[in-house]
Amino acid sequence: MKYVPKQPEGNVNVSEQNPLREFFVLLGGVLGFLVAVYFVLGWMVDLVAPRISPELEKKLGVLISNSYLPEQEDSSSSAYLNTVLARLADDRCFSYTLPVQVHYSSSEVVNAFALPGGHIVINRGLLEKLKSENELAFVLGHELGHFRNRDHLRSLGRGLIFAALSTLVLGTDNSLSGFISGSMEVSSLSFSRRQERAADAFGLNVLQCAYGQAGGSTAFFEHLDDQSQNLARRYLASHPTSPDRVRLLKQLIREKNFAIDTTALIPLPPWGE
Ligand SMILES: [Zn+2]
Repeated sequence: MKYVPKQPEGNVNVSEQNPLREFFVLLGGVLGFLVAVYFVLGWMVDLVAPRISPELEKKLGVLISNSYLPEQEDSSSSAYLNTVLARLADDRCFSYTLPVQVHYSSSEVVNAFALPGGHIVINRGLLEKLKSENELAFVLGHELGHFRNRDHLRSLGRGLIFAALSTLVLGTDNSLSGFISGSMEVSSLSFSRRQERAADAFGLNVLQCAYGQAGGSTAFFEHLDDQSQNLARRYLASHPTSPDRVRLLKQLIREKNFAIDTTALIPLPPWGE
């Protein structure tokens, strides 16, 4: 048989596909993998958060919370806030695995948040919007609800995972991981609507328990419905809309037969600088 040389039918070394397309497929695969890892780790955080020991939370508190705690605290406002918190967290109405403490911040941003280690930070900007101690007690009770449900540890875990993943992939000196660690405060503040509703219901129970009535629970959101909405944008962005919260609270007050006595609301002291 005579040998007839033939060209190979295809060249395995040259892809038939456009190289740019392959790049995007690869990039999509890597991104998809990272997204999957993020969700799996996030799911693990949900499993682990309720099991974090008080000792570990205390350590996390020292590590993370200290950078978010106000540098200078006004002593008289802080002392007053801690008296109100002590009335709520008297073991009868609320107890936690760690002692809880509230920190006064002179920031004008309308905000309050719970941090690991039993710390609550409340800004002057939010305090100025409150008209009674009962309203303040509800806001603090809401943050205590985040402690009870371990929301503050869950969302922090996701933020940490995200920062760790970006550092792993892109190194520490990249603008993305800098951006992510810079935005960790935001991620640690945003809870799901379900978590927020649970914290509202918890705050309402704590208020009723400590003050013998639920007056003041909806008032904060009711005055936020006017021009102050704009100033509170950030607080509201991480929380469900005010009318929804008021509606839900009123429904709970009716179901639980809680009394409302607006004549018994306790006035607030002036806030420090
Ligand atoms: Zn909240």
